[in-house]
Amino acid sequence: MTDDYEARKRRQRIERLKKIIKTSILVAIIVPLLTAILFIFLFARTRRELNELQVQYDDLLKSVESLRDTVEFDESDKDVYSTSDVEVSPRDDVLNDEANGADVATEENAVRHVYLTFDDGPSSNTPKILDILAEYNVKATFFVVGKTDEDSIESYKRIVDEGHTLGMHSYSHVYSQIYASEEAFAEDLTNLQEFLYDTTGVWSRYYRFPGGSSNTASRVDMKILIQHLTDLDITYFDWNIVSGDASGSYISADGIYQNCISKIGNYEDAVILMHDAAAKNSTVEALPRIIEAILELDNTVIVPMDDTTVPVQHQSID
Ligand code: ZN
Repeated sequence: MTDDYEARKRRQRIERLKKIIKTSILVAIIVPLLTAILFIFLFARTRRELNELQVQYDDLLKSVESLRDTVEFDESDKDVYSTSDVEVSPRDDVLNDEANGADVATEENAVRHVYLTFDDGPSSNTPKILDILAEYNVKATFFVVGKTDEDSIESYKRIVDEGHTLGMHSYSHVYSQIYASEEAFAEDLTNLQEFLYDTTGVWSRYYRFPGGSSNTASRVDMKILIQHLTDLDITYFDWNIVSGDASGSYISADGIYQNCISKIGNYEDAVILMHDAAAKNSTVEALPRIIEAILELDNTVIVPMDDTTVPVQHQSID
């Protein structure tokens, strides 16, 4: 009886022990498994949230880009007049040259060259700008970006067919992309150069940096990008007269006219910065008056940029 009792007790203990061991093993397996599943779930959720954040960030970046485009030149304008190596031709030279003869201004003997330059096109305003230039038989320079719609294709062709200079202004005009690295800049440049060649047959060798060569947005030393252009036989052009049509706030046609005309006398070669963009209607409105006023100046011609143009540059390679 006692033996039986003892034996039963032992069996019960063994059973209990077995149960404890089984439970421990189960717990040892299930807990890490559940933890792993939980982690996988959390990881997936975090990744989804990160992706959503990335999309939001990209959108934000894009809107900042477009915002920066509208005020693009506000920053660099400051540099135009403060940088010591901006090429400024003293008015004295102009007067001396005038005293030496040259009464009738032709492209060969003109004392002063005025370059009308339009950035950021083509746009819905390009045909209007081209019509005005044609009306006055004046040639300008267009620093264009890459656009593949039908109207833009037509505008590139008109620019070339009507004798204007087709310059480049980056394909994307997205600062964070083109100024991210020399490679990114090079790729964007090649894209635009080849696209323009395919569209118009012109291999453009003229460039205007978005924001100018003195922009503060580039993560690459601008001298490296300038050297890159030089290696490809591409000349870059800044400006010495700002029409003011790039500023964020509205500027009237009269304001643009005043900005353009009041400073021409300071320069032997005046390079006027204007914008060819859908929202810049006052630029189109001011253009006829600007052209008329320039044509009335003595010994002054309006010419498109070419290989003989002495470039106005805010940065030198040295
Ligand atoms: Zn631009």
